[in-house]
Amino acid sequence: MTTLDTAPADVREHSPVDGEPCVLLKLGEVVLKGKNREQFERRLADNVRQAVRPIARVDVVRRHGVFIVRKHDADLATMERVAQRISDVMGIVWAHRAWRVGKDVASVERAALELMDGRTGSFAVRARRRDKRFPMTSVELDRHIGALVAARYGQPVKLKNPEHTLSIEVDRDEVFVYSGGLPGQGGLPVGMSGRGLVLMSGGIDSPVAAYRMMRRGLRVDYLHFSGMPFTGPESIYKAYALVRELDKFQGGSRLFVVPFGKAQQQIKSSGADRLAVIAQRRLMLRTGEVLARRRRDTALITGDALGQVSSQTLANITALDDAVELPILRPLVGMDKIEIMDQARRIRTLSISELPDEDCCTLLAPRRAETKARIDDLRKIEKRLDVDELAEHLADSVQEHRPAYADPA
Ligand code: ATP
Ligand code: MG
Repeated sequence: MTTLDTAPADVREHSPVDGEPCVLLKLGEVVLKGKNREQFERRLADNVRQAVRPIARVDVVRRHGVFIVRKHDADLATMERVAQRISDVMGIVWAHRAWRVGKDVASVERAALELMDGRTGSFAVRARRRDKRFPMTSVELDRHIGALVAARYGQPVKLKNPEHTLSIEVDRDEVFVYSGGLPGQGGLPVGMSGRGLVLMSGGIDSPVAAYRMMRRGLRVDYLHFSGMPFTGPESIYKAYALVRELDKFQGGSRLFVVPFGKAQQQIKSSGADRLAVIAQRRLMLRTGEVLARRRRDTALITGDALGQVSSQTLANITALDDAVELPILRPLVGMDKIEIMDQARRIRTLSISELPDEDCCTLLAPRRAETKARIDDLRKIEKRLDVDELAEHLADSVQEHRPAYADPA
């Protein structure tokens, strides 16, 4: 029997498994990246280390298409938390809490028996070898370990849709044994696709838009417009709580808050009337553009979905695009409200978005909103307002916050 020399002494003495608890990560699209792969993997490994830093300092070892997350003197509970945390890191498809055991059949047997102890229901063993220098083939391992577990605990082997899957992965220096795992977010590592600025209301859509762009590898900042001084601070609290929740997907998030009430009043008294909503959205985008340039964010992101509300008709979306030079990314443009809400529930922003607040936009809602805004009309209004200067002024008035995700211990 070989024991891993790296296994901490207490694990060696007290655990029925000769090995070390670790986390095995399966990567998503990263593996398709050809020449950029090295860069992608390095970024992903950095992001993983960063995300778990408040829990533990870990080593991330890269091996053909998988990452192994290890910690000196690792204990089960800590590695459980580490796996949980990593399941929010973009670019990971699965996080498996695994036993890292010696590269011999006896060690695999012990780990398998320990993992299946106390479980009921059918099971299947799925072995694979990243290193073929092992005394048994994958099929032989499947049969051998399957028979052993069945004989010890009386569980039936079932190859199609078993209740439990026991996975065995033979690697270069060791074998990983695990059962089950946490599904990850998929997508690309945050930071791979550049940086963007999310226009963040307190609503349901914009947090989902932020999530979807982070999942495509964009690092995002957030910009919220409050109705202050004519509304209370509630919408800011909501935006703050939303960004804090979303921060689990990237870390280091910044929220910029602009008191927008006075500018809205100016729009109102400029005679914008039915165009007021679009005029204010254009002003938000212009302010966003000023801020984005200062932050080196190269895209704006909104939660617009085609036709969802009167400001989101095709004509109005065109009028919004006209206000800025930066691209406006609208990841929800083709989604139904039901789909958006499902996603919001899954990323745990829905309940925050549903809290009551005084949206700054209600200050301005005319009785009948324009659905076919004409850009010429909007430009006339904006000329009266001197929007360029106004956008600069608003961007100067931002308050910066850093809502950080708190891992529930
Ligand atoms: P959401 O659910 O994101 O609030 P919505 O369906 O209510 O969206 P609108 O109110 O028309 O739609 O807003 C469309 C988009 O404009 C939002 O998704 C957001 O990106 C941006 N936006 C609206 N209000 C604000 C605000 N107060 N601060 C920052 N961005 C905003
Ligand atoms: Mg809204």
